[in-house]
Amino acid sequence: MPDTITLTLDEAHTLSIEVLTACGMTPDHAQAVTRVIIAGQRDECHSHGLYRLIDCARSLRDGKAVPDAVPVIEEVSPALVRVDAQFGLSPLAFELGSKVLLSKVKTTGIAALVINHCFHFSALWPEVESLAQEGVAALAMNPTFSTVAPAGGTRPLFGTNPFAFAWPRPGPHPYVFDFATSVIARGDIELHKRLGKKIPTDWAVDENGQPTDDPDAALRGAMLTFGGYKGSALSTMIELLAGPLLGDLTSAESRTFDEGVGAAPCHGELIVAFNPSLFTQGDAKQDALRAETLFESIKAQGGRLPSERRFEARARSLVQGVSIPVKIYDEIVALK
Ligand code: NDP
Repeated sequence: MPDTITLTLDEAHTLSIEVLTACGMTPDHAQAVTRVIIAGQRDECHSHGLYRLIDCARSLRDGKAVPDAVPVIEEVSPALVRVDAQFGLSPLAFELGSKVLLSKVKTTGIAALVINHCFHFSALWPEVESLAQEGVAALAMNPTFSTVAPAGGTRPLFGTNPFAFAWPRPGPHPYVFDFATSVIARGDIELHKRLGKKIPTDWAVDENGQPTDDPDAALRGAMLTFGGYKGSALSTMIELLAGPLLGDLTSAESRTFDEGVGAAPCHGELIVAFNPSLFTQGDAKQDALRAETLFESIKAQGGRLPSERRFEARARSLVQGVSIPVKIYDEIVALK
């Protein structure tokens, strides 16, 4: 019996809508969440694809996520829009807020979107990539749920705190990177546990602060930041800019808020957009060409640009559909 199952993108989309609807989600939320989940599966970001439906279902059924929350948009200033997600999942709040962000940044040059009180499970690249496709540079960040020890420590304090950036380019694909400030995304450790695989020993420490290759011990212990004290400082910055700055929760506070359910973390998110045509000293088109020279120089040395793997996977999935382990498919189908 094969250990993976292949679905067309339409079949994957239908499966996602059915699961989310069975969890009580309203159609606007179910569509927004499904767009993000299918994008993750299509780009072979397995820890943020269909697998995340299990997390979403737990957050909606056992956690405090509100399946029919109506996001509230507040235009705080000419350059700042806030969306209070009202404890719903974040994708709908982003979709609504990003439209306002884009209209603001046209005239202000720099503008920020703050999302408050959202349950957040998704990768950040779909967000910054969609903004770059509208011609702006963008960055996004959020705290998560304390699972990562600070450099020099052994106990969870930070979240995996992702940071993403996108730069608009000619052609279909912007420059995009998106990574956790932990050595690896927590979803990857969870996936190893589900599939009975060991993890590299530099990802996490166990409850006694010792390196471990056991995903279960890692999930009970603490993950590590990438780059030692440098990743630790970046993670601190994300806690501050997407936590107290926004009046929202830090990763440690988010964990307390969860009360042991293990749902998607609840917190805020900060997205900042930059309009190249207002930042330039004169000729934005010329500046964009200089950016292209930089990208070409990276590739000329044998490097690859971040997201190139995703874009290749996307092209493949559009033709061949997507594959997931049967074990995870069966778990997802049982949620309907
Ligand atoms: P990865 O280490 O898998 O990848 C990080 C980035 O680096 C990607 O843009 C990737 O591009 C790029 N990259 C990887 N290898 C190379 C290379 N050799 N040369 C150039 N670029 C490269 O990411 P993480 O495991 O840290 O994070 C995975 C995802 O988890 C992210 O999307 C993040 O947003 C998400 N996440 C979400 C959280 C949340 O709270 N919602 C919490 C933590 C993580 P490519 O994709 O093309 O390989």
